[in-house]
Amino acid sequence: ELVLTDFLDRAVALYGKKQAIIDQDGIAHTYEEVNTRVQRLSHGLESLGVTHGDRVAYLAPNTLEMFEGFYGVFQTGATMVSLNTRLKPEDYRYILDHSGSKVLFVDYELVPLIEPIIEQLETVEHIIVHGRTEEENGMSGYETWLKRFPESPFPRADVKENDTATLLYTSGTTGNPKGVMLTHRNNYLHALSIQHHLRVSDRDTLIHILPMFHVNGWGSPFYYTANGATQVMQKKVIPEEILEKAEKYNATVMHMAPTVLNGVISKYHETKPKVPENMRLVIAGSAPPKAFVKEIEEEIGWEFYQVYGMTESSPLSTASYISTEEDDLQGDEYYEAKAKAGLEVIGTKVRVVDETGEEVKKDGTEVGEIIVKGPGVMKGYWRNEEETNRTIQNGWLYTGDMGTIDRHGRVAITDRKKDIIISGGENISSIEVESVFYDHPDIQEAAVIALPHEKWGETPHAIIVLKEGTSLSEDDVIHFSREKLAHFKCPTSVTFVEELPKTASGKIQKVKLRNLVGDKQ
Ligand code: ATP
Ligand code: MG
Repeated sequence: ELVLTDFLDRAVALYGKKQAIIDQDGIAHTYEEVNTRVQRLSHGLESLGVTHGDRVAYLAPNTLEMFEGFYGVFQTGATMVSLNTRLKPEDYRYILDHSGSKVLFVDYELVPLIEPIIEQLETVEHIIVHGRTEEENGMSGYETWLKRFPESPFPRADVKENDTATLLYTSGTTGNPKGVMLTHRNNYLHALSIQHHLRVSDRDTLIHILPMFHVNGWGSPFYYTANGATQVMQKKVIPEEILEKAEKYNATVMHMAPTVLNGVISKYHETKPKVPENMRLVIAGSAPPKAFVKEIEEEIGWEFYQVYGMTESSPLSTASYISTEEDDLQGDEYYEAKAKAGLEVIGTKVRVVDETGEEVKKDGTEVGEIIVKGPGVMKGYWRNEEETNRTIQNGWLYTGDMGTIDRHGRVAITDRKKDIIISGGENISSIEVESVFYDHPDIQEAAVIALPHEKWGETPHAIIVLKEGTSLSEDDVIHFSREKLAHFKCPTSVTFVEELPKTASGKIQKVKLRNLVGDKQ
C-alpha cells in the first residue's frame, strides 16, 4: 500500500540528523526531532478518541505544528481537513460541520476567527491551540498538551492507499469552495512524479511560500521530506522580503503564486539585491504573465517552470519543462514555450477536447476543454456525488479550463470556461488581454472581465492597479492595448483600483470584481 507516512520514515532513516524544519521562529529541528513530535501527536490524537476514518481539522499558516500535523494525523488513519486561513467564521462553521471534524487545531493568532462559532459546532469535541501553553476557555495549549504523550513509536492504523488522506477545499475562485477527497495514493504518486520533474534532493532548501493548507503548497511536505530537503516555515509572506529570506537561508527552490512573484520581481528591479547564490528553480502556477519568464531566466538567472493544475488533480498535470523534441527553440520562441502550462507530468495524461468529446487538432491554436487522467485525480467531492459525476467521466477529470495543445503535446491555458469573454461572436481570452498590460511599466496588476454590451453581447473591461507614484487615464490604458492586440479584444472601459481581491493562494477573484464593477454601473 502506498501510504504517506513512508515519506517521513524515509527521511528519518536516511537524513535523520539533518536540518528538516526551520520553524517560524527560526529554530532548526532535525528529522529525528520532528519525528518524535509526530509520535507524541499521534498518541495525543488517540487519547482524544481519534481513530481510522475520523476527520481532524487544521486552521494554521505555515508552521512546524502544521507540518507535523500531516504525519501525526496520517499515522492514526484519520483524514486531515485543512482550512484556508482567509475565510469568515461562517465558512469555518460550514466546513467543520460538513466535514464532520472531531478535533480542531488552530494557530493562536487565528483563534478570533473561530470564537464566534465555537458554541454552534456540531461535531468538534476538542480545540487545541498552537503557540499557546496554557488552557484557555476550554481550549488546550498545544505544547503542554503534546508533552503529556510518549515519544515511543505510535502503533499505526492499517491505512489503505485508497483511504482519504485529506479533504482539501478548492480556492473558491469561481464560487463556493468544494471539498476534494484526495487519497494517500493520489498524493503519493503525485509526489513521486513532481519530485522527479523538480529534481528534488537533500541538497535543497525550500522556503514554504505557498500556504500548505492549500493544494499548491500541500504537496511540498511530501516530496521535500522524502528527499531530506530542509524546509523553512514562515507565517506571513511579504513578497518584498522573500529575496532577503532566500539569501539568509540559502534557499534553492521557491514555489509561489504569480502575484507574489510579481512583487519579488519588482523588488529585484528596485534594489538590485544580491541574488541567492544557490537558487536554482522558481515555480509558479495560475498563469504568470509572459513578461515574467524572460525577466526571471534572462535577467535574474533562475530556471523557471510554469505549472498547471487544480485541487481535484492533487494538483499538477503539466509543467513547462522543455523536451528534446523542442531543443531547437530559441529566443522568444523559447520563452513563449516556457510561459505555457507545459507538457504532461509523468503518469498523467492530458487531452484537449471539443464539445463532442473529440480531441482538437494538435496545432497549438484550436481551443477546447482540458481533460486529465492519472493517479492524481481525486476520489471525488465529499458528500457531493452529483458534482463528482459531472466532473469525472470515464476516469477523465473535466477541468473547466480551456486551452490548446501543440504537436509536441505542449498545453496552453487560454481561460477558464467561466471567464471567457464572448464579444460579437468571438471568444476572447481574458488571460491574453491581461498579459499585455504586464508589459506596461506603470501597471502593477490587471484583470479583465466581461461586461454586458447591447450590440456585441459582451465587451472586455479592464481593472487596473497602478504602480505607486504613476498615473494613467482610461484612454491611456485602452490605447496601449490597441497597439498590441486585435481591436475586438481591447477593453472598452477601465476601472482603477488600489488592489485586486484575491484568494489565499493569490488568485484574482473575478466573481468579486464582477460584483464590484456591476455595483458601480
Ligand atoms: P474554485 O474551483 O473553488 O472556483 P479554483 O478553481 O481557483 O477555485 P484551485 O483548485 O485552487 O481552485 O485552482 C485550480 C485552477 O487554477 C485551475 O482550474 C485553473 O483555472 C487555474 N490555474 C492553475 N494553474 C494555472 C496555469 N498555469 N495557468 C492558468 N490557470 C491556472
Ligand atoms: Mg476549480
